[in-house]
Formats: sequence, structure tokens, C-alpha cells
Amino acid sequence: EKARIVIVGGGVGGATAAKYLKLFNPALDVTVIERNPIYIRPYGSSEVLTEHITMRDLEVRYDTLRDKYGIRFVFDAAVALDPVARVVTTAGKQRIGYDRLIVSPGIELLYDAYPGYSEQVARTAVPSGWIPGEQTALLAQQLKAMRPGGVFVLAAPPNPYRCPPGPYERAALVTEWLLQRNPTAKVIIADPKDAFVTDETMMLGWNRLYGFNLPEDYAKKMADKVELKTHSKPSMISWIRGKDGGRPLKLDARRMRLETEGETIQADVINIIPPMRAGAIARTFGLTDGSGFCPIERRTFASTLVPHVHVIGDASIADAMPKSGFSANTQAKVVARAIVEELAGRKAPEPLWENTCYALAGKDYGLFVADVFRILPDGKIGRVNGKERYLPLDASPVQIRLGARYQQAWLRTFTQDCFA
Ligand code: FAD
Repeated sequence: EKARIVIVGGGVGGATAAKYLKLFNPALDVTVIERNPIYIRPYGSSEVLTEHITMRDLEVRYDTLRDKYGIRFVFDAAVALDPVARVVTTAGKQRIGYDRLIVSPGIELLYDAYPGYSEQVARTAVPSGWIPGEQTALLAQQLKAMRPGGVFVLAAPPNPYRCPPGPYERAALVTEWLLQRNPTAKVIIADPKDAFVTDETMMLGWNRLYGFNLPEDYAKKMADKVELKTHSKPSMISWIRGKDGGRPLKLDARRMRLETEGETIQADVINIIPPMRAGAIARTFGLTDGSGFCPIERRTFASTLVPHVHVIGDASIADAMPKSGFSANTQAKVVARAIVEELAGRKAPEPLWENTCYALAGKDYGLFVADVFRILPDGKIGRVNGKERYLPLDASPVQIRLGARYQQAWLRTFTQDCFA
């Protein structure tokens, strides 16, 4: 009898797992349970805010996965798990049995993280858009309608969160766009953190493009590697980090005020990217621990809490691997391989994972962080490529432009790898 693999969540992780299971063993019976018949991709979604693309361009369909690979799709929400009988139940009361279950539900945003903030407020007044959809469209509308000289505040999330360079890329792209249509506007990032991945190369881009002066400690650290411009006028973009009082505390949506540890910022448009945890269904299934995310056995991403279940993507605790689409995709391939080998009575091979997060400081200013990961002697997933992880600080203008081309090409080829 054919082994039945069921996958909950048809986003990056789930779609990739389904495709690669079928590529590795076409005889498997693979079913994806996904609540939305059209996937709206989060990666690249900040480009909607700057009118580079439209909401429609974010849409991804499942026809190819279904027709070319013979993957079955159930468009319904998973609501319950019976781990003993090995059955997933959906909102539409379908009962779907499995031999192995893969769960890749992405994230849930914590709309109750700040007083004055709620899902209702996010839907109508202070959008997040970190799970793309109507809130992304609302934020785009608000930015377009912002008064001349208006203030856009982006509240960055605490660690760990989906797409580590993402909030800073969003702020940069919005700044570049405002420079053209609303040049006296301001962009303020209120951040609970003191650092972020790609911080040096990203802020170097801001220094060159938007009149940004780096915090003194950064400028000092980078001084022997690159020449920074000194700007006398106030910058269009600013970053208030945790130690300078940037931590968001409270929202007054009616007055459009964000209170941080250091000050109360009067804004015209506010984008809160709240703290997050694993997609809610992971908790319902009993897969999360006290951190809100899902502990896994590293070699196979099998849940340490529920047998015969694997958790991948943003919902999993993957140590040094960031919560990114690239990570979810490479984890999916490793899990597909592990399941195929185990079902055949063989041992899963020693895994190796990759991640590259491309990010833009402007539409022609590309940068990246690139890593290779394996299980280190301490039993955790760690990086193996040493220090050479970023665009070099002394990169030439051509390398930087090329970085932006790579980012755009990646968006296209990556979607193909996951969904076609
Ligand atoms: P998702 O892709 O979110 O998929 C989860 C799926 O599960 C969804 O389709 C959801 O509908 C479904 N689901 C949830 N619960 C249920 C249920 N109960 N029943 C049925 N279905 C359910 N990553 C990069 O690598 N590079 C980038 O440049 C990049 N840029 C980004 C920019 C932005 C602005 C954002 C927001 C994210 C970016 N990311 C990027 C991150 C990337 O999009 C995510 O890390 C990735 O989508 C995670 O994949 P996933 O499978 O864990 O979750």
C-alpha cells in the first residue's frame, strides 16, 4: 500500500516538501491541506508599498503542483489532530489519515503585544502586513495618501521573527519611494533591538542614498573598511534602537501616536510588526513549547513532542537558521529526503542546509547574508561558512547593482522551485 504523507500549510515549506516528496518518490500519496486556494507570497511583498508590483503579483496558484506532480490539495483549514489514530480533521469535517505528517503553518502575529493594539486596529488603522493580504494593501494606500512632510513609523519586532532583514528593507524601500513623491517626509524605525542581521551593509546603503548618519559605535567599527559620508542635514530615515529608547511600548491609534521607551512619536502612518510565534495550528496540534515555537529533532525536523510529525519553516526552532523562505525551502527538501529514506528502511543522510537572504537598501542597491548550516558537535544547527557572510563593505557599485538583480532573479526562480 502507498505511504500517505499529509502536509498542513501550502506555503513555502509545505509546497516545497510536497513537490520534493513526489520528485524523490512519485509513488507516494501526498496531500496538502491549505486554507487558501491562492497563496499570497510574503517574500517580496514590501514592493507593493512602493508600487513596484501590485497585490496580484504576489498571488501564487497550485495548479502546476497538482497537475504536473499529482499532489492532492484539500482547500480547507486543519483544526484538530489525533496523533494516535494519525488523523487530521479540517473545519469542513474531512478526516485525513497519514503515515507521516509535515506541518508548515508559518507564523501567528501577537496582536495583543502592545496596549492599544489589536487585530481590529491592525485591520483598520495600523496595519502590519507581515502576513501579506489586506493589511499590505491598506498600508500601501495609507502611504500614498500621506500628507506632504508626513511621518511614517515602523515598529520593528523583537527576536525571533520572520525575515530578519525584512523590516529594514521595507523602511529603506519606502524611504526611496518617498524621496520621489514626498521628499520632506520622514521614516522612523522604532526598534527593541540594538542590532540586526545585515545592519552594517544596510545602513551603509542608507548613508549613501538617504543622508543617514550611522550610530557612532557602528561608524567607528566600520571606519577602517569603508568611507562613510557625513551629512549635516537631518536624515530622511532614522533608526532608534533599543538602547536609545526605541522599544515600542504602547499605541494610541486614534491620535496616531506610538509610545516608545524613549519618547512618544507623533506619526501619520504606523506599521507595527508585532512579536510572533508559530502559526496557531501548531499549538492546537501540541507541537509548541514555552517559546511559542516547535522543538524538533535536528536531523529530520521530527517534532520532539508528537511522533510521526515533522515541523518546518517559520514555526520550527532551527537554532542558527533564520525564519526565512529560503530556510523553509531547504528544510523541506531535507525532510522530504529523510521521510523517503526512512519509509524505505534506510537512515536519513546527514543534512546540510542553506540560507541566503537578499535585501534591498534601494531598488538598485542589493545586499545579502548567505550561510551554510550543519549539525555542529554541540548537537545544534550552526553556520559552517565562517565570517564571509555579507556583501563586502568595500563592494564596488557594480557588485551592489548586481546584488539587486540577484534579488529580483531569486524572487522569480525561488517561486518556481517551491510551486512549479
Ligand atoms: P508560510 O509561507 O507563511 O506558509 C504557511 C501556510 O500555512 C499559509 O499558506 C497558511 O495559509 C497555511 N496555514 C496556516 N494554518 C493553517 C491551517 N490551520 N490549515 C491550513 N492551512 C494553514 N524570505 C526569504 O527567504 N527571502 C526574502 O527576501 C524574504 N522577504 C520577506 C519579506 C517580507 C515583507 C516578509 C513578510 C517575509 C519575507 N520572507 C523572506 C520570509 C518568508 O516569506 C517566510 O519565512 C516563509 O514564507 C515561511 O514559510 P512557511 O512555510 O513557514 O510559512
